[in-house]
Amino acid sequence: MRIIIMGPPGSGKGTEAALLIKHYNIPHISTGNIFRELYKDRTTVGKIAKEYIDRGELVPDDITNEIVRHRLTHADAKKGFLFDGYPRNIEQAKAFDALLVKLGWKLDAVINIKAPDELIVDRISGRRVCESCGAVYHIHNKKPLIEGICDLDGGTLIQRVDDMEETVQRRLRVYNESTAPVIGYYEKTGSIIHIDGTKSIAETDSAIMKALGETN
Ligand code: AMP
Ligand code: ZN
Repeated sequence: MRIIIMGPPGSGKGTEAALLIKHYNIPHISTGNIFRELYKDRTTVGKIAKEYIDRGELVPDDITNEIVRHRLTHADAKKGFLFDGYPRNIEQAKAFDALLVKLGWKLDAVINIKAPDELIVDRISGRRVCESCGAVYHIHNKKPLIEGICDLDGGTLIQRVDDMEETVQRRLRVYNESTAPVIGYYEKTGSIIHIDGTKSIAETDSAIMKALGETN
């Protein structure tokens, strides 16, 4: 199964991504996570990416496309994949198409999760992530068992710099200007599944599974 999941920051796509990779047993490829790891490992690319990320801007396409190309050479990608946060603009979508043609692979689904701006700002400003494993929580909607501590590994939960309100507003602007057109791109080239991201996690889960033809 080869899937792309799209949606503005805070639409709940990370949560749905977790469900899908478990269901299909496919790797979760989040370009945002890859950039954060590259930074944690003190790589040059990671340091460059961090400057864009902290400003709420997109990392340049040549860097991003190359990271994706490299990631797909890993053996686990043969099982399929779920892309989360990529492609983020039309240029990346075109580069990704060309790469898939080269690999002889076809996308099975593009899922677009929709949510209005007010909901997004609320969801993101309450978001907390584990400093060590990157697991995502929310101060109201997805509390850890112990406040401030990751359920999985006991890591400290922090707020990402780019989740602070001002940066969120910039990320939303970037989303509306650069990423929203990608939806139109996939509408033209294939099937795209639109999902209402304002509902509960359970309702969103089942809407996606139903749209994918799963009897869940
Ligand atoms: P995310 O975790 O997907 O919200 O990504 C966090 C940040 O990483 C974004 O705000 C961008 O600065 C950067 N980023 C992630 N994916 C991409 C991409 N496909 N193209 C450019 N920048 C990206
Ligand atoms: Zn953790």
